[in-house]
Amino acid sequence: MRLPDYHTHTVRCGHARGTPSEYVACAQAAGLLAIGCADHLPLLPEPDPELAMGACELEDYVAEVKELQSRLPGFVLLGIEADYRPDTIVEVRALLDSRPFDYVIGSVHHLGDWGFDDPRQIDRYESADIDAMWAEYFELVGDAAETGLFSIIGHLDLVKKFGHRAARPLEAELERLLARLAAAGVAVEINTAGLHKPVGEAYPSPAILRKLRKAGVPITFGSDAHRPEEVGRDFAHAVGLARAAGYDSFAVLVPDPDGGRARLTQAPFA
Ligand SMILES: [Zn+2]
Ligand SMILES: [Zn+2]
Repeated sequence: MRLPDYHTHTVRCGHARGTPSEYVACAQAAGLLAIGCADHLPLLPEPDPELAMGACELEDYVAEVKELQSRLPGFVLLGIEADYRPDTIVEVRALLDSRPFDYVIGSVHHLGDWGFDDPRQIDRYESADIDAMWAEYFELVGDAAETGLFSIIGHLDLVKKFGHRAARPLEAELERLLARLAAAGVAVEINTAGLHKPVGEAYPSPAILRKLRKAGVPITFGSDAHRPEEVGRDFAHAVGLARAAGYDSFAVLVPDPDGGRARLTQAPFA
């Protein structure tokens, strides 16, 4: 089955390898439907060369992906992964509006000043209230969806990355999030990178996927590749997860010929 991989990084972010053209070549070799380059947007308020490209590199990133897109129209999309943080959203919106991205993945990687998925900051889990963390995270993801800036929400249950599970079910918080995602019209990615993290499970979990299906939230696919050879990794597994959750179709991004953001449409599983 030909699937798109909308979540890939490049050497520019400081913690990945490979140029956009190497990722595109791997996507072609893997027989994917499309590839989206979605490297990390320059970090705000402070740059971090280990987490994202610098502001001065954004222009070159856009030009490089656009050039690949001109050679392979319809196959290559220009995306970006942007952090949602309440304190930087005005600047992030301006930055996103300044470039012709086909789509933006919205991700929450921070709770306050804590980059909770950053291995360098893992010590902070020792003093964290994990249940409160999950609840706060779900609330922020809902806020992110409602900004209207994002086509896809990245790794929906990232808080589990290092294996920290909430002790109570958080049903009410999750239901509220699902309703907000559905109303916002965003897609959620099945992100296979989680399989290779301590948690050993794709994002989101099978239980959340079933609830997303019931709520009518579309899904799509992302490897979160940080090396070219990871493009499309574990997508057969991801399709199995989608089907087990009751999905019979997935979301595809259709670029806007007038240069605006791409449109989400549904494609059936073959
Ligand atoms: Zn990354
Ligand atoms: Zn991310």
